[in-house]
Amino acid sequence: MDYEIVIGLEVHAQLLTETKIFCGCRNKFTHEPNTNVCPVCLGQPGVLPVLNKKAFELGMKGALALNCEIPPRTKFDRKHYYYPDLPKNYQISQYDLPMSERGYLDINVDGVEKRIGITRAHLEEDAGKLMHSTDSSVVDLNRTGTPLLEIVSEPDMRSGAEAKAYLELLKLTLEYVGVSDCNMEEGSLRCDANISVRPFGQKELGTKNEIKNMNSFKGVEIALQLVAEKLFDATKKGEKIEQVTWGYSIEKQKIFKMRVKEEANDYRYFPEPDLPPVEVSREWVEQVRATLPELPRAKHTRFMDEYSLSDYDASVLMQDKPLAAYFEDVAKASGNPKDSANWVINDVAREMKERNISGISAFPVKPETLAELLALVKGNTINMPTARALFARLVQGETASPKDIVEKECLAQVSDSGALKEALEKIVAANPKQAAEIESGKHQTAMWFVGQIMKEMKGKADPQSVTQVIAERFGIDPGLLQKKK
Ligand SMILES: [Zn+2]
Repeated sequence: MDYEIVIGLEVHAQLLTETKIFCGCRNKFTHEPNTNVCPVCLGQPGVLPVLNKKAFELGMKGALALNCEIPPRTKFDRKHYYYPDLPKNYQISQYDLPMSERGYLDINVDGVEKRIGITRAHLEEDAGKLMHSTDSSVVDLNRTGTPLLEIVSEPDMRSGAEAKAYLELLKLTLEYVGVSDCNMEEGSLRCDANISVRPFGQKELGTKNEIKNMNSFKGVEIALQLVAEKLFDATKKGEKIEQVTWGYSIEKQKIFKMRVKEEANDYRYFPEPDLPPVEVSREWVEQVRATLPELPRAKHTRFMDEYSLSDYDASVLMQDKPLAAYFEDVAKASGNPKDSANWVINDVAREMKERNISGISAFPVKPETLAELLALVKGNTINMPTARALFARLVQGETASPKDIVEKECLAQVSDSGALKEALEKIVAANPKQAAEIESGKHQTAMWFVGQIMKEMKGKADPQSVTQVIAERFGIDPGLLQKKK
């Protein structure tokens, strides 16, 4: 019998607000531990949470970018569990009326499009952070109350590669709309997975295993693959599948068993009595929707349509929103999108990598400057080796414009007929045999003269002007020589 793996992902994204979701504390947990705290986020008795409107709007913006529907009414609930990083012993989350539901993302794996459903995206508060050493554990509650958007997918993924593609597009989408910085290493984007195995064609899901807190794309793909292998093995041997929660170690690239569940958790959800339900007007939704920027896949399609870029070039640029904007500036200033994409994807990206420049905003060559360089090549003023040498100088901090440098240092291809004629006379005088050949009507010899002049002018001669000068000197119709080229 053949089996398939079924994967669903739960992603938590920290929202980029100034303050926490239910109090006025700063939303910064990199500060001195336990300094951004107050009675509300410490869960002291008698305090009242107040919903941060900005957090709600950022959550809505993220949900809309994920194609979710926003219901007209939503509420908050208490999710009860006891843990040392959770001072209230409950977390304010959303249970049966989430702020958004029924969204999707269209992923592309090896050229195959697939729609991954998003069950819901709801708001909740983050817990604190525990730090363990050999003889003690300490807690930092700065993170307590950080607004989170929890995004729950449908179990629509069938491989680690699909899960990775979904997570990458999800991250890119949230970054595009600017609701989260999605830094996986710092934990602002965290991913849990549900995974099960079932015979092909069966509708019911197999017993679920979970993988907790994966914080890299590669980790997600590897951990899912490892758990899938264990589930396949057990299923094929006819063993009973335990409900295991796995952890994943990036360093060792290994999964480890965290716990085996006997039954489903009962969090005793009930409506948060201190927060009124939120009525969401259609106007509000449309106002937030109007602030959405162009999303990654839309940009990809537009780049192919508007600039005739290849699928590959458009994909590379889509991955980096600021780089895509840089490309568009170069393309518009130069009127030459194809060469702009080539230069940005190859030369600019290479220089950024070599010089450890993390973002295009710190790149020393401005789009207009690169456009000017491209125009010099396109207009046959300079040739490619000269252009690359100039680009290297610009990256190293050269401040003069490419045009000025070319003029000042005489880097332009020489099309001045005086200089070319002079070079030609020199060559004719030194090579009477070839001169006699061309004079006797052997027009092919003209190509030999073109080569000699190029050499004489150190590669800077403009080929068209050279042909012109030769044609005039030997009384040949220039059209005949052009055709010979
Ligand atoms: Zn607080």
